[in-house]
Amino acid sequence: MTQREQMRKRKEAEKKIAAMQKKWKKRDRILLAIEAVTLLLVAVMAISSGAYSKTSYALAETEFKLEFETETETEIETETKTETETETETETETETETEAPEWEYLGEFEITAYCPCYACCGQWSGGPTRSGAMPQEGVTVAADWNVLPKGSLIDLGNGETRIVQDTGGGVVGNHIDIYMSDHQSAVNWGVQYRDVWLYVGE
Ligand SMILES: [Zn+2]
Repeated sequence: MTQREQMRKRKEAEKKIAAMQKKWKKRDRILLAIEAVTLLLVAVMAISSGAYSKTSYALAETEFKLEFETETETEIETETKTETETETETETETETETEAPEWEYLGEFEITAYCPCYACCGQWSGGPTRSGAMPQEGVTVAADWNVLPKGSLIDLGNGETRIVQDTGGGVVGNHIDIYMSDHQSAVNWGVQYRDVWLYVGE
């Protein structure tokens, strides 16, 4: 074998080796690519499964929260209902309490009538009432201020209300003198006995 042949053979061998190395490199690259793809897939799966579990956790949490919130709302509603019921009860009680004693029954009174004439009022004829206010039919009555103080609102029955504004010489005790604008009406009234209520509301 000549030196030249040897050189050629070596070169061929080197070429073969290079070609093989090239092949290996190519295979390595493919393997690497496969590995990378596999790794990527695994990573994607891991992330997605993590994400899935995270999502399911979040869903579970949301559900739990919703349940909890629903329960809380129900509790609040129940509480509110209870409060409203209690308030309504209290209001009803208060109304009953305030409505009932607005008018106090005072008993039966002797009821007479008078007008501003001299026969009825003498020296005070045509003047103001004892309270200072001018007498008004449908409003003014005279009473014993020890029994019914000035300004008392009274009911002579059937919602006929009057205000105690005057007094009179003969008006003592359970006696009310109703003011009328003309003498004949007062005379016609005569003497009557009526149940009297006193307004004690605010
Ligand atoms: Zn008169």
